[in-house]
Amino acid sequence: MTDIETLRKEFPILSQQIYDRPLIYLDNAATTQMPEAVLRRLEDHYRKDNANVHRGIHTLSERSTEAFEKARDTVRGFLGAGAGSEVVFTSGTTDSINLAAFGLAHTLSPGDRVIVSVLEHHANLLPWQRLCAMKGAELLVLPCPDGEPNLALYEQWLSEGSVRIVALTQVSNLTGTVFPLREMTRLAHDAGALFLADGAQGLRHETAPVEELGCDFYCFSGHKILGPTGIGVLWGRTEALELLEPLRLGGGMVDVVQEQSYTAAGLPARLEAGTPNYSGAIALATALDYLTSLNRNEISVREDKLVKYAEKQLSGIQGLRILGKPRKRAGAISFTLEGVHPFDAASVLDKLGVALRSGTHCAQPALASFGVTAALRLSPAFYNTFEEIDEAVKDIVRTMEIFRKWTKNT
Ligand code: PMP
Repeated sequence: MTDIETLRKEFPILSQQIYDRPLIYLDNAATTQMPEAVLRRLEDHYRKDNANVHRGIHTLSERSTEAFEKARDTVRGFLGAGAGSEVVFTSGTTDSINLAAFGLAHTLSPGDRVIVSVLEHHANLLPWQRLCAMKGAELLVLPCPDGEPNLALYEQWLSEGSVRIVALTQVSNLTGTVFPLREMTRLAHDAGALFLADGAQGLRHETAPVEELGCDFYCFSGHKILGPTGIGVLWGRTEALELLEPLRLGGGMVDVVQEQSYTAAGLPARLEAGTPNYSGAIALATALDYLTSLNRNEISVREDKLVKYAEKQLSGIQGLRILGKPRKRAGAISFTLEGVHPFDAASVLDKLGVALRSGTHCAQPALASFGVTAALRLSPAFYNTFEEIDEAVKDIVRTMEIFRKWTKNT
């Protein structure tokens, strides 16, 4: 990887002042920033090549289509997947999970069971809640005491039978827990269940091919991996994707259409009705190429070191409670401060130039499992520095002192 100062210059947004202090952006679990290469690619596309894909034979449409399909192949390569037709472009992880969950509705019967965990983002919980309610199926929510999935209970549920689908996050956006996906997918398959992995937080961390992880479906969002918003991916093994009934019907997903009927096109088109976000896909491919050029393993190692460092620094602060103590943590670390509401802390920290996420993190049951309703979250990316973490930690301590003084004086 290039030296950090040179690398940071490639991310123009990072070199700005917030309230006259240098921005310290530590909210990468919510969204990552885009390097020049991605910003330029988006602009170039709109300046030179923009036209709808798969719809025209004029030069611009052909250029657009070619770049879009090349982007699909880049995603395939990045995921270590077998075929480009297994890559379905969506608008993000939420969209991908909904597409998979409701596309599988016809495979579920009353009495079937679906497993998720208590650490899921709402995007990997609500679709399964509704699906189970629609089909008379049972939703089992795996407890994760101290941020670690209860594997004994998981095995027990699988051994009891009737589990058709397991949908788990690869990395929790709250605790940073790295789920043991290989083991959990193997156990799910032994029990005859399909396995969907929510890779929104995991893809920057895990570099193994999806086929090695063993899941049937894998979902991620472009904006969490240096790409733009509004683009995401549902990857699936061909046989798994073929199980999905298309939810969105319209242009681009059909073979023959008559007044009263249609036949669907093959994969992936049948799951991509309407004009796809091709410019987003093209820019996402540039982001993935950029990450590959930096060396994905080194990025993952650097992010692990930053998170470990942050955990060590934060755990020395009196009155600060870190949520969960998972065996392996990646990407994010959430905490509460004694006597200070996370929103208040985050708004003071913002005035000090530090961008941290506060609130429910779209994971209310996960927070409830720790007995809290809100938390702060620090989530570094490889372009952050250890010095930034030192500064943020100092500012957290300062914030606590400000509130202690206020409470004493009121
Ligand atoms: N799953 C996880 C683990 C996430 O962190 C997020 C985003 N915070 C999502 C799903 C949803 O992603 P998106 O909003 O991009 O659809």
